[in-house]
Amino acid sequence: MPRRLTEANVLEVWEGGLGGTPAARSLLLASVAAPPGQDVADLPLSAVNALLLELRRGAFGDALPCAADCPQCGDSLDVTVGAEELRPCAVGSDAGAGPSPATATLTTDGMTVTYRALTGRDVRAVDATTPRARRSLLRRCVVHVSPPPVDDDLSEEVLEQVARLLPELDPGADTVLVLNCPQCAHRWEAALDIGDHLWTEVSGYARKLLHEVHSLARAYGWSEADVLSISPARRQFYLEASAG
Ligand SMILES: [Zn+2]
Repeated sequence: MPRRLTEANVLEVWEGGLGGTPAARSLLLASVAAPPGQDVADLPLSAVNALLLELRRGAFGDALPCAADCPQCGDSLDVTVGAEELRPCAVGSDAGAGPSPATATLTTDGMTVTYRALTGRDVRAVDATTPRARRSLLRRCVVHVSPPPVDDDLSEEVLEQVARLLPELDPGADTVLVLNCPQCAHRWEAALDIGDHLWTEVSGYARKLLHEVHSLARAYGWSEADVLSISPARRQFYLEASAG
């Protein structure tokens, strides 16, 4: 399997992600771009994002169209972001870029807490719609507590301290856009989920292909495999010819 999205694999990838959670879809997409045999679920989120950006660039180019509403005046913004602006910045730091999540320790409340960066496996394992999702995620980051807490559980305060420190451990885990409203000059930061963004594009691509298969199968009696074996340029010709 090539480490990019092609007409030959996009339908399979799309089908595999249907019905999955956003976290599962992101990992499925990242796995397409990963070296053979690598389990992307165990990568820190910055590395998953880097794979997603790489996959996206190969299939749809460098420019990411994004839409957002200004929180101040409500105006709708259509901006195009360069993939470079979203690339996790790991220069001068060994955090985030490695194949396994970095760990660090913090001392609080007389305890030494060892924690690690979030992985895709963590995000996939936690149901984001439940009220305790945040706590469950943070709890998964804690790998060791010394001495162990009495009831084997950690207080909200300790987990929130871990939450504040996590971005230092994996700076590219969250991708954030800085937006400027042309109407009211308000400036704000908006989170961009690369996996969600790419999934929407993959769905659109897959559906467009299926529509082409449908039209040409109906016009010429070709099978799905027949249609997909024709180059996009020739397919376009036949689509136009059969429509006119
Ligand atoms: Zn505005």
